[in-house]
Amino acid sequence: MSFKPADQIQDLQYFGEFGGVNPSISDSSTYTFLSAKTMFDTFEGNAEGCYLYSRHSSPSNLYLGQALAAMEGTETATVAATGMGAIVPAIMQVCGAGDHIVASRTIYGGTYAYMKNFCPRLDISTSFVDITDLKKVEAAITSNTKILYCESVSNPLLEVADIEALSGIARKHGIKLLVDNTFSPLGISPAKLGADVVLHSLTKFINGSSDTMGGVICGSQEFIDELRNVNDGACMLMGASMDSLRAASILKNLRTLHIRIKQHSTNAMYLATNFENDGLRTVYPGLTSHKGHNLFGKMMNTEYGFGGMLTIDVGSLEKANQLMELMQERNLGYLAVSLGFYKTLFSAPGTSTSSEIPEEEQAEMGLTDGLIRFSIGLDNDIERTYQMMRECMKETGIL
Ligand SMILES: *Cc1c(COP(=O)(O)O)cnc(C)c1O
Repeated sequence: MSFKPADQIQDLQYFGEFGGVNPSISDSSTYTFLSAKTMFDTFEGNAEGCYLYSRHSSPSNLYLGQALAAMEGTETATVAATGMGAIVPAIMQVCGAGDHIVASRTIYGGTYAYMKNFCPRLDISTSFVDITDLKKVEAAITSNTKILYCESVSNPLLEVADIEALSGIARKHGIKLLVDNTFSPLGISPAKLGADVVLHSLTKFINGSSDTMGGVICGSQEFIDELRNVNDGACMLMGASMDSLRAASILKNLRTLHIRIKQHSTNAMYLATNFENDGLRTVYPGLTSHKGHNLFGKMMNTEYGFGGMLTIDVGSLEKANQLMELMQERNLGYLAVSLGFYKTLFSAPGTSTSSEIPEEEQAEMGLTDGLIRFSIGLDNDIERTYQMMRECMKETGIL
């Protein structure tokens, strides 16, 4: 594929007041108008370049949104305070009472809980399906379906969604395809493969320093305008707006994303290959043993590799906990949820980030007790890290 997302970001040039090399931070929640007429027009959404109130938009948020839209190749984007603060309004803008969602059954625990437990209160129902089974996906669509929802690479099982095929199905039925691309920024460009809306938790790889939260909705100008509409826009009215100071700091981190992703991918590939050779049950899209390996290869922007996420199954929760505690003691990473940090993070999804999913359903989708999810860090000497991890596995009787 010829799309070069990092080049799109690189080509953006923003100056600050007084010629600063970074754009000035808009340190204001409200904005003055020279004429009352302009204020009215801005409320109506007809005053390009005018700012109203920072829950609606701010110059710093627009810079970040523009950079993320460039990265995803969409017309525009709007940022939010958290990933869920982007996902929920995107769904709410499209669905109302009586509507239906078809979603992958292996998605982020918070998104799953929102659709499963909260949406029914609004009379919105969801069918959770195996997203890799296109026949089942299409069969789940009804006349009330408004959204087909998936993650490019799913959390935590790392299933790969065939975005092109799913977009074909969505188009055929006149529904929107929403793709959460949090696990594969730069690596996969869902909008280029036909997704209508691309979502991210900026909290993860994109910001990359586990010091803030953030989210983004990338899509058409029409959809983003709807979300920001003062009368019925879900972003404007649900209130999860990002603060300008945070937008400015995330934009600076975005500038190094391409270097980080390459290092995350190289390190993850090295560890996954070695873990698999050691006989551990290893799931990583870069391994030829992975069910979605060829599909990922077909969709990917090659230079970024297969991403920084991998899982191993060490047989039981007890062993998983022993290993994680020992690795943390040896400073190989942190026993923590979240991902995309410069340091390796590991957790047992069944009892943490996916604990919202009932046990029977976890079993059905292959989410086992002994599963450890790794977000591989930016370690300079990954060979040394591997040797030290191997030592921990030996000491805990896993190898
Ligand atoms: C973390 C995460 C979210 C939620 O983002 P927050 O910033 O925590 O609100 C959504 N989707 C995926 C895939 C995630 O990993």
